[in-house]
Amino acid sequence: MNKRGIIILYTDFSRDWLPLLKVCGINKLGLHALYCNGGVEGIMQWLSKEEVRKDIDFFEENGIEVEYELHALDWLLPRSLFAAHPDWFRMNDLGERTKDWNCCVSNEEGLSYIERSAFRYAELLAQKSHNYYIWRDDTKDGLCHCEQCKKYNGADQNMLVMKHILKGIKQYDPQAKLSFLTYQDSFDIPLITPDKDMFLEFAPIERNHFVSIIGKDAQNEKNREILERLLKIFPAETAQALEYFLDVSLFCQWQREKAGPLQIDEKRLNADVAYYSSLGIKNISTFAAFMDCEWLQRYGTNAIETYGKIVNEIE
Ligand SMILES: [Zn+2]
Repeated sequence: MNKRGIIILYTDFSRDWLPLLKVCGINKLGLHALYCNGGVEGIMQWLSKEEVRKDIDFFEENGIEVEYELHALDWLLPRSLFAAHPDWFRMNDLGERTKDWNCCVSNEEGLSYIERSAFRYAELLAQKSHNYYIWRDDTKDGLCHCEQCKKYNGADQNMLVMKHILKGIKQYDPQAKLSFLTYQDSFDIPLITPDKDMFLEFAPIERNHFVSIIGKDAQNEKNREILERLLKIFPAETAQALEYFLDVSLFCQWQREKAGPLQIDEKRLNADVAYYSSLGIKNISTFAAFMDCEWLQRYGTNAIETYGKIVNEIE
């Protein structure tokens, strides 16, 4: 694989990660934020500290690309605007405007607001990489059901927002490329043509994580079908698989006190990575949320080493 990434919570980031990433041949570190840590605002505050910037520079000087993968719509379109502009927000399936998740994807004023916020977002991140991962909110039932939006499936609702976000970040970074995330509500095939500077990011959270994605399993078959159809729309060479192989948080249902060891099956991991590679996907990352120093001391580094070995072996 060309890009061999792991994604951790920014609250678990420290310089101690660097030797481990180097030993494992991991060349991309994604930083992620949970809503309980302030989401985008939390990570932006953290990034404004000089010592944090120095640490990130240190990783990049040592060959690790640092990127930010964040659910950001609530930051791009603050919910405090709801009282003044309810039409900028989504209509739920009861026909009520609500500020709970995401936005209306047909309201041009709201979309323009998001576009301008995306410029500020890129400016505050001030990242070296040209790859941006600015995702919609982390929810499953967050589509807009208004008269104009209800004709769009989840992937197209995502696409309409992403086109504006891309326009906004390009004003800051003309070389910017933006992730088109296939996950939860947007786990579908878009009918609207993507911009040439969007790349597919496929996050199969609802796959069966305990058997290989290539086997006979209804959930995995569905995931493969969607991915293979998406690759007729998005180029495989820029596509990224976003997996959950090392995601301690998923396997304890995001209850940190229950974080336990990972069951890493080398054969399964190998088959999964080989499958992505066979489709022409050369960029892979895995979530590793809740994998912090304490976890690593307790359960060791075998799982991450196994992942590193496989993504380095498979081209
Ligand atoms: Zn709408």
